[in-house]
Amino acid sequence: MTHESHSFDVVIVGAGPAGSSLGTRLAQAGFSVALLDARSFPRSKPCGDAISPGATPLLQELGAWDPLLRETDQAALLEGWRIRSHGGAWTEAGFTRTAMDTPPAGLAVDRRILDAVLLERARTAGAKIFERTRVFARHGGDRRCDAVVARGPRGEASIYRARMFVGADGLRSRMARLFGPMRCGRNPRLAFVSRYVGVETAGPWGELRLSEEGVLGYAPIASNACNVTLVVPMSSAARIEGDVAGFVRRRIDRYEANPLIAGGELLRDVEVTGPFEIAPTRRTVPGGLLVGDAAGYFDPLTGQGIHRALYGAKLAARTIEASLTHPEAESEALWAYEQALDAWLGPSRRLQRMIDGVVSRRSLMEPATRILRGRAALASRLVDATGDRLPAGDVLQPTRWLAALASRAPRVEIERPYDAHA
Ligand SMILES: Cc1cc2nc3c(=O)[nH]c(=O)nc-3n(C[C@H](O)[C@H](O)[C@H](O)COP(=O)(O)OP(=O)(O)OC[C@H]3O[C@@H](n4cnc5c(N)ncnc54)[C@H](O)[C@@H]3O)c2cc1C
Repeated sequence: MTHESHSFDVVIVGAGPAGSSLGTRLAQAGFSVALLDARSFPRSKPCGDAISPGATPLLQELGAWDPLLRETDQAALLEGWRIRSHGGAWTEAGFTRTAMDTPPAGLAVDRRILDAVLLERARTAGAKIFERTRVFARHGGDRRCDAVVARGPRGEASIYRARMFVGADGLRSRMARLFGPMRCGRNPRLAFVSRYVGVETAGPWGELRLSEEGVLGYAPIASNACNVTLVVPMSSAARIEGDVAGFVRRRIDRYEANPLIAGGELLRDVEVTGPFEIAPTRRTVPGGLLVGDAAGYFDPLTGQGIHRALYGAKLAARTIEASLTHPEAESEALWAYEQALDAWLGPSRRLQRMIDGVVSRRSLMEPATRILRGRAALASRLVDATGDRLPAGDVLQPTRWLAALASRAPRVEIERPYDAHA
């Protein structure tokens, strides 16, 4: 039996970076917005905690950059990545410095803090927040999504009606499943996220250590704290033998990453998640759209999910504003949203798959490391593209590869501004 009914212009399901930032933009534009989240905040989330520098202008637009940096002791700047190939050879690539580009540094911050700051921005903008409220069904309307049902903190079911619904409820999105069937990837993986406090961090650099089995990612997340994320194939699950912490310790040892966490202690229990490669078959329906991980997520290797959530929310905000202002043009606005997602994410996914294909094979990664070590410009171009400062399509052009391969100059600054955020 349902008890209460609420009505808004927009109901957003999920208050992670995608949902909160979309809520902020729409509330600032004058729409009545409800943000529903199954959890209560601050809450943790399995993540490598590294925010690509392309996200910096988006955090600034949302008014979240200053609050995050003011808590300097709980966030760290990230200026590039060091990569250790399977055989132990290291290469490093910093984000390039240009006057017109986005700042040459990303941020690494515990998701407990990032997501709480973003949610607070939405609240301040006027969005109504419903925590511990889990959406589980659509209500009425066979074709058009015009109401959802959620269970609140006391177990009560309520109906939320709106002119537009957004699924921003992350991996394994309930909203995506209410919109249509899901597709799974062919390479299921598991991730183990540990955060340590009381460590000495290695400056503003993240690390990726590769092995035949998978990858270990490291990022400093405060002056004395770090995130260590381990990604392994699902087939390794049998080796966990019910002892997650022990499994993670053994792998950290195998990656010779003990010095990174020396003297530290776990901030909270290891978080386990996977598989990641799950995509919806429908990202829009009449009266609704998906954003962030709910719209499809590929892999944590290049750590671009937070930028995708924030930038996707910017695209979604434009779409929803257009649809609510001109309801007769809703289907065109939703179609344009899908097109914009494809144009932006298509090349980025291709680049991600290409990188994934190389780093997962020792026979390819060893020569790739040798090539990158001699060509800092090429390495920085790649790290700028995966840092969302250069369009991925730019990097995928064969002519640019050939030019970068031919050049042995230590560093070439990128002159053209990255205009994806225009
Ligand atoms: C192991 C791992 C490491 C990663 N590392 C990085 C990294 O270093 N950098 C990076 O940029 N990205 C990284 N990512 C990706 C990044 O975490 C996500 O892309 C990002 O969190 C997506 O944001 P979102 O708002 O779409 O979803 P989420 O952050 O997942 O938020 C979804 C919200 O929806 C809520 N919710 C779920 N179901 C319901 C429901 N039925 N009703 C109501 N609420 C619901 C959840 O409680 C949650 O708060 C990583 C991902 C993984 C798995």
